Amino acid sequence: MKYQVVAAAYRDLEQASGRLILIDRLAVLLAQTPEELLPKVCYLCQGLVAPEFAAVDLGLAEKLALRAVATATGVEPVEVVAAVREAGDLGQAAEQLLAATAGEREPSLHVDTVVDTLHEIARAGGSGSQGRKLGLLADLLALATPLEARYLLRLVTGNLRLGIGTPTILDALAQVYTGSRKDRPVLERAYNICCDLGLVAATLASGGLTAVQKLQVRAGNPVRVMLAQRLSDAGEILTRLGGQCMAEYKYDGMRLQAHRTADGHIELFTRRQERVSSQFPDVVELLQTGLGPREAILEGEVVAYDAAAGELRPFQEVMFRRRKHGIAEAARDVPIGLFCFELLYADGEDFTGLPYLERRTRLADAITLSDRLRLTTAMEVATAPALDAAFEQAVADGSEGLVCKATGSTAIYQAGARGWLWIKLKRDYRTELADTVDLVVVGAYAGRGRRRGTYGAVLLAAYNPDAELYQTVGRCGTGFSDAELAALPARLAPLIRAERPARVDSRVPADVWFEPSLVLEVLSAELTLSPNHTAGWGQLKDDGGLSMRFPRFTGRWRDDKEPQDATTSQQLVELYRTARRAPAD
Ligand code: AMP
Repeated sequence: MKYQVVAAAYRDLEQASGRLILIDRLAVLLAQTPEELLPKVCYLCQGLVAPEFAAVDLGLAEKLALRAVATATGVEPVEVVAAVREAGDLGQAAEQLLAATAGEREPSLHVDTVVDTLHEIARAGGSGSQGRKLGLLADLLALATPLEARYLLRLVTGNLRLGIGTPTILDALAQVYTGSRKDRPVLERAYNICCDLGLVAATLASGGLTAVQKLQVRAGNPVRVMLAQRLSDAGEILTRLGGQCMAEYKYDGMRLQAHRTADGHIELFTRRQERVSSQFPDVVELLQTGLGPREAILEGEVVAYDAAAGELRPFQEVMFRRRKHGIAEAARDVPIGLFCFELLYADGEDFTGLPYLERRTRLADAITLSDRLRLTTAMEVATAPALDAAFEQAVADGSEGLVCKATGSTAIYQAGARGWLWIKLKRDYRTELADTVDLVVVGAYAGRGRRRGTYGAVLLAAYNPDAELYQTVGRCGTGFSDAELAALPARLAPLIRAERPARVDSRVPADVWFEPSLVLEVLSAELTLSPNHTAGWGQLKDDGGLSMRFPRFTGRWRDDKEPQDATTSQQLVELYRTARRAPAD
């Protein structure tokens, strides 16, 4: 098949308007395409030469493409530049220059030759690669008709912009191979689970709709992720989900879809199918040891996680450190955790059609949990008050809220859909603190891992002068230097008490209690309502107090302050109220 046939279709598609006309024109092209070329032509319709996730980067800057045009036409580069300026785009300029220099050339380029050469251009790397890329493109252009040149240049510079999306191409495929568009959803499902239009088209052409229906997810091909709807009312959520659901913590990080292929290689994809394994060597390592099945597709949220203190951290810390200090340093300084919530495939079995609870069981079976490889916290909930309580607990524990998941027999994994099987419940306001607060150390937790032998986190309290109580606002294990951590036990030893001191008002346990004495300065991302902490208890909510989200020790011990001089519970209530009045999002 000649590339001219594709170029002519591009031209018509560019001029057409209206979805039905586009589908019809595409259908003509696809019907003309021999079966063995169908995948390549499908990619070309997407403006690609391989599925997008393969990330074949033609890597041709406009400047280089421009020089290829000069070489192929024998026109001086400055003249090419002038032609581009006049025509408004390189493709059109090349078309005109070629028409002037080569005239009525018979189409001779084959689709195969074009696609293979483009792959060769993409593969060219290392020293001298720019010259090789230029040479390969110039050779193609030297054989191209003016119309072919227009689209070749737009393709290699990433400016094809035909205005047709994958759904339109699927419609056209359905029309050609099944006689109507009514079965497009079957093709769509197949596309959503493999992200490879060429594969869907080839399967349809060779085995018909039945074969497409049987297509399964496969390790190595990203699956378009399932997304959640959003509601703000617990009762409404339960009604939508059939009266009960599994409420999972919603972690505030980055979603990763991990694929381990039969060769043992692990690839990580973002929710937009970009490959990011090289950015997360720590996640790859966690999965290499913790993932049971040889082949698997798993989803989880990677978060900044202080495993020693058991605390979630703001994810921006991970991204910021990576940008500033590089991946290896960031992996050491801002450790991550992977909280897994889906298993879509394992060793030949596709789980996307199984109900949620079954997938969850398989997920639990497939991973060996560790400090940093975890399952999302999840609880079964069947009443609105229980869902509200779960939400508050989730926020108190440092997560963003909940993703409520349907548990019925029809709760499959809907690849690529934002449906009503998952509903998120998030805080709709933020209460960020710009100021530091001074809090009293009333308890501590034994450190684990790297922090064995010292404390992993301290329990902090605000002062309530009316009740003469120290009321807790949360634990804090972040911001301490190694030296400070090592010195903590000695510094706190004189204050240890066998029991919780009477003036400490706490609803949470501690491994060690202290006489309220030491004050330290803390910066917290925000204050949230909490069923666990007692500062401001009952003032904002009947059965709740305030807790800090993402507290961080600033490094400043306020030795100048008596514990009674610490920030008061009332001040925290005011801070919370002020922040809510002026939402900063
Ligand atoms: P949103 O980005 O607000 O639409 O929320 C959906 C995102 O929340 C997902 O794409 C995941 O990245 C993230 N997420 C965090 N925790 C969970 C969880 N337990 N289940 C599903 N998604 C989660």
